[in-house]
Amino acid sequence: MTDTGIASRLHQVMARIRAAAERAGRPPAQVALIAVSKKQPAEAIRAAYAAGQRAFGESYLREALDKIEQLRDLDIEWHFIGRVQSNKTRQIAANFAWVHGVSDPAHAHRLSEQRPAGAPPLNVCLQINLSGEDSKGGVEPSAASELLRTCNALPGLRVRGFMTLPAPADDEAAQRAPFAALRHLRDRLATPGHPLPCLSMGMSDDLEAAILEGATHVRIGTAVFGPRPYN
Ligand SMILES: *Cc1c(COP(=O)(O)O)cnc(C)c1O
Repeated sequence: MTDTGIASRLHQVMARIRAAAERAGRPPAQVALIAVSKKQPAEAIRAAYAAGQRAFGESYLREALDKIEQLRDLDIEWHFIGRVQSNKTRQIAANFAWVHGVSDPAHAHRLSEQRPAGAPPLNVCLQINLSGEDSKGGVEPSAASELLRTCNALPGLRVRGFMTLPAPADDEAAQRAPFAALRHLRDRLATPGHPLPCLSMGMSDDLEAAILEGATHVRIGTAVFGPRPYN
C-alpha cells in the first residue's frame, strides 16, 4: 500500500465513522479510531501518522516492540489488542498506554504491579465473551462483575470499560446483537465511582453496527492498511 493509498483509506474510514455516528445521533468525536497495524511494516504506520492518525493497535508483542522502537520519534498512543499472556505482561505494561482484552485476574495483577513507577495507570478494557466461542477469549458476562471488582482495586490499572470480539456476522442486525449486549452489561455494572465510559468494539466489517450500539473505540485494520501482507 502506498502512503497516499493509506491516507485515502484512512479518510474513507473516518467518513464511515462520521456517517455511522450521524445515523446513531452521536457526536463523531465520541468514537476513537484505533488503527490496527499488526503485520504491517513501520512505514505503513508512518504513512497513517503523517495523515493524522495517532492511536495504533498491535496484537503480537515481539513485532510490536520492534515497531515501537523504530517509531520512537513519533507521538503514538499504543494499544495492545492481542492475547495477554503471563510472560508478556511486563513488556505490555511498560510499552503500551492501553490494553484491550484483560480477562484474567492474574494478568490484571501482574500488569498493575509491573506498570512502571511514574507512569500513569494503564488503561484497560475488560474482554467479555458474548458469542460463546472459546477461541475468542474473554470472560462470560456472568463473571464480569467479579473481574471488574478485582481490576478496580488495582492501583496500576484504570478500568475504562469493556471490549468484545464477536464472531463475524453478515447482516447488520446480527452484528448489532453482541454489541448491544456489551452496552447493556456496561450499563448494568457502571457505578458513579467507576463509570466505564468505553466500549471497544467494531472492526473493518462491522464498525457501523458497533457505533450504532455505542462503540467509543473501533479497532480497524484492513480498511485502513489494506489486506495484511502475511499471515
Ligand atoms: C486484527 C484485529 C482487529 C482489526 O481487524 P480488521 O478486520 O482488519 O479491521 C481488531 N481487533 C482485534 C482484537 C484484532 O485482533
